Amino acid sequence: MNANPNTSFAFKITQQIESRKSQKEKTEMTSASGIKNALLSEVAPAVKDSENKVTIVGVGQVGMACTFSVLAQGISHDVVLIDCMEDKLLGEMLDLQHGSLFLKNPKIYASTDYAASAGSRLCIVTAGVRQREGETRLDLVQRNTDVLKNIIPNLVKYSPNTILLIVSNPVDILTYVAWKLSGLPKNRVIGSGTNLDSSRFRFLMSQKLGVAPSSCHGWVIGEHGDSSVAVWSGLNIAGVRLRELNPVIGTPNDPENWEDLHKVVIHSAYEIIKLKGYTNWAIGLSVASLAHSILKNSFNVHAISVHVKGYHGIEEDVFLSLPAVLGKNGVSYVVMQPLNDSERARLQKSASLMHEVQLNLKL
Ligand code: NAD
Repeated sequence: MNANPNTSFAFKITQQIESRKSQKEKTEMTSASGIKNALLSEVAPAVKDSENKVTIVGVGQVGMACTFSVLAQGISHDVVLIDCMEDKLLGEMLDLQHGSLFLKNPKIYASTDYAASAGSRLCIVTAGVRQREGETRLDLVQRNTDVLKNIIPNLVKYSPNTILLIVSNPVDILTYVAWKLSGLPKNRVIGSGTNLDSSRFRFLMSQKLGVAPSSCHGWVIGEHGDSSVAVWSGLNIAGVRLRELNPVIGTPNDPENWEDLHKVVIHSAYEIIKLKGYTNWAIGLSVASLAHSILKNSFNVHAISVHVKGYHGIEEDVFLSLPAVLGKNGVSYVVMQPLNDSERARLQKSASLMHEVQLNLKL
């Protein structure tokens, strides 16, 4: 990582481009700006601030899926990519820039220098190591905490009013780490959490019932990981609670084995990693949905990782997913779901597990 502006990635690219220019090209450039001057008569200086600048740190599989989803859906038209691998950064930037015509004429820029992220409304962190086959998300914790120690202070330095959206795993603990490192208020530090798990769950529900995922209502809360909690009491289609039709839904006694849906959700990442090495498309789309709610101030409710101390009897300073209202100021409300005793107990168990891991972290 290079903080010196004279040796920054952007500076080096400019140098390379400059040195490649022959005198002939320079002359052509001069006459091209002559055309610009003859063509365009300035009425007032153009405004540079797009008001929806998004920085994405980490241009790996997840970072690029998030970037592509944000750009393709027109959620932001001002995107900055940051990574420590210069060649990959440049390649991804150029490749996306060449598609600008087919997007909505976005500004796409990449740099290893965090100064490029200045003034971002939203910073999405996807940098770090990912699970290898058989590894749990919690196995990554200290390695990715060390990665965040470099990233978070730099993001906040250049964008003090930003919202931080953490995606790197283990996402709940790293959201806590980002909150601690950033000094930002809790409404402006969130994790992508179980927005993805809930989407996986609603997809599986849709497969079982033959109803579109957007009409299947079900929430997975708690840890984005092995101890997540499916809120069986709230599962419904058009307000019809499935528990009223099947009182043992989600329990081991259920003859329809609805509990398997949640097991599949928990196992999904392991299965996909085994098959293709990583997960990216669904998390990219899930993160884009969060970016949309934040940047468009839409107040949609998402299951995201928020500071949960004080909710559902949780006493620890931890982040876990609960349904939350998202807008330009980050989290404005947490939705108080009426959980039953077993759901509340499982959420509290997740909280204790997160807290235990956090106690051993070197921040
Ligand atoms: P990847 O290896 O493809 O990409 C990681 C990127 O991070 C690389 O480009 C690397 O150069 C960059 N990086 C590493 N350290 C950095 C630093 N200090 N500064 C800047 N860039 C740095 O990994 P991936 O598949 O994109 O996964 C990224 C993370 O996202 C992993 O932690 C993974 O577990 C997590 N993930 C989270 C979810 C979720 O639901 N929250 C889903 C999938 C993956």
